[in-house]
Amino acid sequence: MNKITVLASVIASGSLLLAVMYGCVWLLDRKARAALAFAFEALSIVLSVFIELAMMHATSPEELGRWIAWNQVPVFLRTASLVAFIYFYFGTGRPWLMALTVGSRFIIMVAGFIFEPNFNFSRIDSIAHTEFLGQQVTVIGSAVTSPNQVFATISAYLVLVFVADACVSLWRQGTSDAKRKVVVIGGATFLSWAAGATYAQIMVYQGARLPVMLSPPYLFMLAAMTYEMSRDMLRASRLARELRASESRLDMAASAAGLAVWNWDVRSNRVWISDRARVLFGLSEREPFEIEHMVSRIDPKDAENVVRTWRVAVASGVEAEMQFRVRRPEGGTVWLLARGRSELDAAGKLVSAQGVLLDVTEQQRQREEIDELRRELAHAGRVSVLGTLSSSLTHELGQPLAAILLNAETGELLLDRPNPDLKELRHILADISRDDRRAGEVIDGLRKFLKSRELEFDKILVGALVQDVATLLRSDAIVRNIQLDCASDPVLPSLRGDKVHLSQVLINLLMNAMDAVADQPAGRRSVSLRVASDGEGHIEFLVRDSGPGIDAAALPRIFDPFFTTKPSGMGMGLSVSRSIVLAHRGKLWAENSPDGGAIFTVRLPTAA
Ligand code: ADP
Repeated sequence: MNKITVLASVIASGSLLLAVMYGCVWLLDRKARAALAFAFEALSIVLSVFIELAMMHATSPEELGRWIAWNQVPVFLRTASLVAFIYFYFGTGRPWLMALTVGSRFIIMVAGFIFEPNFNFSRIDSIAHTEFLGQQVTVIGSAVTSPNQVFATISAYLVLVFVADACVSLWRQGTSDAKRKVVVIGGATFLSWAAGATYAQIMVYQGARLPVMLSPPYLFMLAAMTYEMSRDMLRASRLARELRASESRLDMAASAAGLAVWNWDVRSNRVWISDRARVLFGLSEREPFEIEHMVSRIDPKDAENVVRTWRVAVASGVEAEMQFRVRRPEGGTVWLLARGRSELDAAGKLVSAQGVLLDVTEQQRQREEIDELRRELAHAGRVSVLGTLSSSLTHELGQPLAAILLNAETGELLLDRPNPDLKELRHILADISRDDRRAGEVIDGLRKFLKSRELEFDKILVGALVQDVATLLRSDAIVRNIQLDCASDPVLPSLRGDKVHLSQVLINLLMNAMDAVADQPAGRRSVSLRVASDGEGHIEFLVRDSGPGIDAAALPRIFDPFFTTKPSGMGMGLSVSRSIVLAHRGKLWAENSPDGGAIFTVRLPTAA
């Protein structure tokens, strides 16, 4: 076998191997676009080798001319894949320059098949032979260079401009890694291309009768690229090993704290979750995990809220915390507390997200039990309030019932007359139905007040709330000779809350105030309820009394459960009231007034 064939076979098989290898890399990781460009670069050299061999063995000027036209195919492929490689691998390079370089090469390739004999020559008159590596090979004898060749020359050197520009941009990034890439890949590419392009120009302009053997210099470029990409692969595998080790360390630390950890790399859409997180989501060790998977396991009652909170967190880049239920595949639900953070790139695009999960099912169960107890306590509190008020409520109900009876009896007497006055009768009936309605309202109010139920949030008109409370307490205040004064500003904004529970709070406070003034001399027993807006989105209810005030030693403890200074007190009123106010995201506090007596303030957020 002659030396040229041996050299060509070595170059072609080596390049083909590289093309296949990096083609496979791209197939396994579609985002490795530089690897794909590199595979095409290697492939273009395989093609070049065959066409160059054909040129060296051409037997006529026509045949040589045809092969020169065909040679533009690997040249185009080499140009396009080289600029693409630099663009993707360096992450620099101007797209318009890239388009110009590849576009001009494409035009030259297509035009090569249109012009006779090809794009580079107007005429090839004869072929000659010269010795190359101990073999006689065909070269151009006499030919006329086409005026188009200027265009081809510019296009060839445009590649160098693109490479140089991309190198400068990368160098400016200043990292040692960037600089090494510029020196190794940028340097080798620039030199190989400059050598190849210049050799081609000398050949075409017939400065010398040279055999067409352009692939060897490009091999140098391929070698530099292979070296750098292998380094990357080695580094990637080392990083993967380190990452696995660090993940397992993190997993261990997190599991010891009862935490499950997850990480989502958005670019590769790869989700890593710790073993504990797998257990929480009911996934086996081998089962793949995807974000959609996670979302589909969330209880539909919470899913919307989770997605909304997550979107807000991603958009703002802040940390998010949420609690939600997850359904286990084997049945049952776990409550998870999740805290997560996202990372955005300079353009504000989501790059990655990570967070921790904590199983709070037990805490949630306890909280629900406490809520249930609180509800029952609040109910018991209302029942006891009504027990205390029963005599005055009898009066409240007795009044309309007595009026109804009186009116009914009067009606009967009227009917006994020979000519009953129908107009009078109509009046009596109207009075009866009005009193009946009033009694009905009282009973309805009592029924609602006595019902044990969860908090039901609704719009509350402050005036109506104050009115209801005043109605319930009015008779009691009269019986105890206390001046009760309840008033609210008519233009107050409305509240959002549970009317029955909030009435209970106000009744508790007012009844405590009435207890506090009980020992004062008659005429100095006054209790007032005032409502006002603080102008900052809150409504304040102030309950004042003319009693002795709260004992300084008792003041810090009055909201404690079972704290009482009354002989028959339970000590639950204020504690229940405070928990109701807290459930409305409000505040309840007590202080002594400088003028004597105590002031209790309930501050609640308005509905808006
Ligand atoms: P109870 O009324 O059954 O004692 P509360 O929790 O309602 O339970 O009140 C706890 C304690 O707070 C009362 O025993 C009393 O000592 C004190 N307290 C409440 N309101 C007043 C008030 N307006 N003036 C003085 N002390 C008060």
